[in-house]
Amino acid sequence: MAHIFCVANQKGGVGKTTTTVNLCAGLAQLGQRVLMVDLDPQGNATMGSGVDKRQLELSVYEVLLETASIEQAAVKSNWGERNAKHATYDVIGASRELAGAEVELVNQDRREKRLKEALALVNASYDFVLIDCPPSLSLLTLNGLCSANGVIVPMQCEYFALEGLTDLVNTIKQVHANLNRSLKIIGLLRVMFDPRVSLQVQVSDQLKAHFAEKVFNTVIPRNVRLAEAPSFGLPGVVYDPQAKGSQAFVAFAQEMIERIGQLK
Ligand code: ADP
Ligand code: MG
Repeated sequence: MAHIFCVANQKGGVGKTTTTVNLCAGLAQLGQRVLMVDLDPQGNATMGSGVDKRQLELSVYEVLLETASIEQAAVKSNWGERNAKHATYDVIGASRELAGAEVELVNQDRREKRLKEALALVNASYDFVLIDCPPSLSLLTLNGLCSANGVIVPMQCEYFALEGLTDLVNTIKQVHANLNRSLKIIGLLRVMFDPRVSLQVQVSDQLKAHFAEKVFNTVIPRNVRLAEAPSFGLPGVVYDPQAKGSQAFVAFAQEMIERIGQLK
């Protein structure tokens, strides 16, 4: 059975997409069968998996409107010939038209459960499904939260980080109460971390004090190789496996596998 996780945080630019694609690549490298679902109309996770969003025949848009199944819409991540030795994962891509899905779904029934129902049909085909959410609490994000067993929250250790978290925690509580009893926060992932900045170290300590074991042990450092990778259509883990950031994401993938073992 697949473990389905949303990567969510309603702030933009906090590292959701970077976390999604690198965790997918890290898990694939560790031998897991992985599906990535891009729920952000910007399609960054799609492009960052080597899939051209402009050339997608079927995407998550069709899945939400129930004109295509996951099986039909899934394509393989594509690392190009040079990187062909790296393990791939399956991708349900997103393109611009996804922004319109919100409006089209508004009057339809089961509108927040479309992705959940579609994923139920491929449950046996994957070990992990990771869903990259847009930076808003839209119907798209709601579809992600309804589908998932848990939420991974990437966060930067900055002054306002905790404030943003309160909103997300409240949303997760509401979805838990009304739509998805199995939803919980799996963990908070510290990303873009720079140990030389004392404020970041302080906020990191506060997070640990507040959320204890809900904070993942792995810390993702600020690392320029992770930021460069998307322009090559690659996760950092594939683009430069030796980079500190890439190695941190593989360690994080390992930690996720261990946590899953404990959840059972
Ligand atoms: P989100 O999906 O939350 O909007 P992104 O994953 O797109 O955030 O990250 C925002 C920006 O920060 C991107 O330019 C990305 O390349 C960069 N970035 C993300 N994580 C790191 C990191 N650990 N080190 C350096 N740059 C990073
Ligand atoms: Mg993003």
